Amino acid sequence: MEGGNTLADTLQYLEFLQDEVDIFNVSCGLNGSIQYQIDANYFEDGWRAYMAKAVKEKFHKPCIAMGNIRDPKIAEKILADGDADLIGMGRGLIADPEWVNKVAEGREKDIRKCISCNIGCAGNRIGFNRPIRCTVNPSVLEGDSYKNRKVTKNCNVVVVGGGTAGLEAACTAAEVGCTTFLLEKNETPGGLASEISKLPAKRRLADFPAYLAHRAAQLKNLYILTGTEGTEDTIRQFQPDIVVTAAGSRPLLPPISGLKELVDKDGGRVYSILGLIQHIGDFPESMEGKKIAVVGGGAVGLDVVEFFTQKKAEVSIIEMMAEIGRDLDPVTKNDAKSIMKKYNVAQLTGTALLQVKDSSFLLKKDDNTFTLPFDYGFICLGMRANGQPFETLSRAFSADSVEVINVGDSKRARRIIDGTFEGRNIIHILEQKGFL
Ligand code: SF4
Repeated sequence: MEGGNTLADTLQYLEFLQDEVDIFNVSCGLNGSIQYQIDANYFEDGWRAYMAKAVKEKFHKPCIAMGNIRDPKIAEKILADGDADLIGMGRGLIADPEWVNKVAEGREKDIRKCISCNIGCAGNRIGFNRPIRCTVNPSVLEGDSYKNRKVTKNCNVVVVGGGTAGLEAACTAAEVGCTTFLLEKNETPGGLASEISKLPAKRRLADFPAYLAHRAAQLKNLYILTGTEGTEDTIRQFQPDIVVTAAGSRPLLPPISGLKELVDKDGGRVYSILGLIQHIGDFPESMEGKKIAVVGGGAVGLDVVEFFTQKKAEVSIIEMMAEIGRDLDPVTKNDAKSIMKKYNVAQLTGTALLQVKDSSFLLKKDDNTFTLPFDYGFICLGMRANGQPFETLSRAFSADSVEVINVGDSKRARRIIDGTFEGRNIIHILEQKGFL
């Protein structure tokens, strides 16, 4: 933290304590710099090991290194290099309590890695004073005991959509013995999580769809058909008992003058988050002097801010509410505030978007209307559920004894954790329908 203890300061005051210490657990951060304590997701794996190394070299006592360690190779390297004697893991074990056993048995590929989202654990515990949950592990409480249950009669499940919610539903159904078909219209599954992970600071997100795809590949009764639309005709071929729609979401584009006409248009300068990701390679390494305006102060808007501050652009963020990042977990919110302060991001709160033009936004704050010019403008006003497949398929199968359920963002656009839990909850549908 700015003005806080440096490593050199800490090494000095530890001189007074060392006689009383058997093992040093070397960490860092205060509440005001919580993103270093409960690491923000862009920190490198094992980035704090140099601190453990410094303490070990000075005091010659066993040291624990911790912080974003979830890759066994990183853990092994820290130990092999002698930087620390022990590895401390917190979130990595919430995400996968079997981490150590899997490594010991040479099953590293099966590890469900923490993605450092801080939503289920820190967000619940510190943010809301609720029990810990996990975005990637819907079984924090009961473990994988559901896998011991098996359907008592044949059950065909068809899942439409291969994002994280759809993949979780499909894997869970197959793991309890359903013959499961997952239809994904794109060439690869992964959905929005895979897309967002193309932002450099969000690259860890890719670990979750990759884990789900690996888990799916182990299941002989789960068939994934890519490049396949989940139409009624296609689904009927699989004689479903249960249809799960997990069709995701798309950017919300409210009826604001000029917005729909200009967003994500070829050669244009106004993008949604998906437009940004599609063109991510087109933005040069340095954008010094370029003006970026981001409308929407939620998680996605702040991802865009983060992306362009790293490129040294002049960034403004516009938010209608009084606060930016209102619904974020405390770690991400603190980190976002630090980044905005560090890079002098102009924060226009209580400000409404009136009109989108090709190189400016018309904005209103109180009674003042003004124009904000940009080189590139971004509309990050949230996502909208793609609810059509659920409605269409519910109607199509209404006369059949087929249960159609909707999970994840296509039910309501939310965070990944909600879709993971709803995917796992297919267990309850199987119970209700008498298959379990
Ligand atoms: S909620 Fe997110 S940060 Fe916390 S343990 Fe799970 S994956 Fe990791």
